[in-house]
Amino acid sequence: MVSAVVPEVALRHGNARPMPAVGMGTAAAPAMLEKAREAVLAGIEVGYRHFDTAALYGTEAALGEAIAEATRRGLVASREEVFVTSKLWSTQCHADLVLPSLRESLRNLQMDYVDLYLIHWPISLKPGPMAFPLKREDAVPFDFEGVWRSMEEAQRLGLAKVIGVSNFTAKHLDKLLAVATILPAVNQVEMSPVWQQRTLRRYCAEKGIHVSAYSPLGGQNWAGNGNGVLESPVLAAIAKARGKSIAQVSLRWIYEQGLTPVAKSYKKERLKHNLEIFDWELTEEDHLKISQIPQNKTVKATYVFSPDGEFTSVDLSDVEVVEE
Ligand code: NAP
Repeated sequence: MVSAVVPEVALRHGNARPMPAVGMGTAAAPAMLEKAREAVLAGIEVGYRHFDTAALYGTEAALGEAIAEATRRGLVASREEVFVTSKLWSTQCHADLVLPSLRESLRNLQMDYVDLYLIHWPISLKPGPMAFPLKREDAVPFDFEGVWRSMEEAQRLGLAKVIGVSNFTAKHLDKLLAVATILPAVNQVEMSPVWQQRTLRRYCAEKGIHVSAYSPLGGQNWAGNGNGVLESPVLAAIAKARGKSIAQVSLRWIYEQGLTPVAKSYKKERLKHNLEIFDWELTEEDHLKISQIPQNKTVKATYVFSPDGEFTSVDLSDVEVVEE
């Protein structure tokens, strides 16, 4: 099987190597370590060099094992050939817990550094075990300055080549940028033809923050609402006209917006198929039709928190990630 050559995008802030323009997501519920390991190896075989994990996903160890195995097999010359992202979970979003949490992620990954370390959510929870859904009464005010100082320290120590955020709206970024001495290089958010993030993308473009798109294929039906991307009649018609799949149209559209999709599959054929987006283009008319797709965000704060209980020290509006 011939592996695809994936273009790369330069990040404006920090010292990371350029980021391959499509990443492979590793989140699955429940986490299946052997499957994740095999999927990452398959991903490396077909050309992925950019992998997305998080302390929350429980896939760091599987990703690390797969990359070590790929190096032993000569599929990659060394760990330096891959771009690895991991994320700080909300229970660790406290100034003194950032570095210990990153060091634990690095132990899981068997690595000395991650290429990109993200604050997973603009939510801080009382320290404790990672559990999902989150308890409303565990949410505490987010210490933007303290947490970001520790993220900056992680970059200075070389434990993360570059740092960033995830699920941050412009409101959260405003608070962060007011205290940052190192700017976030990336904001990873839900983004697809059915949730185009126009406001946030304008904001990030002005600040030189690269936007990475999670759930670019509509997600894994986490919230039980179906899949707005793969079931879109507009995208289906474009896919038919171009002789491509809906998944490829969505990924190509995100790429043409200058953003980096992070798409998950544990199936080798789909992984390969999802990289076959670099030798064709969408037309202006396709772009116009996609710009008119009704918008619907899947992942909201109410989805990560349990419906029971009360917020005692934050408001739902402080942690909401839906931005018109
Ligand atoms: P996604 O990439 O939109 O994928 C959704 C589903 O599409 C997968 O379950 C996959 O199933 C299927 N699929 C993949 N390729 C396909 C194809 N060519 N045709 C048809 N179906 C296809 O969903 P996601 O996992 O939500 O997002 C991707 C990654 O982003 C995650 O894995 C994670 O790394 C990251 N993420 C980050 C956050 C955050 O808060 N920062 C949140 C969510 C996700 P199969 O495995 O069966 O192929």
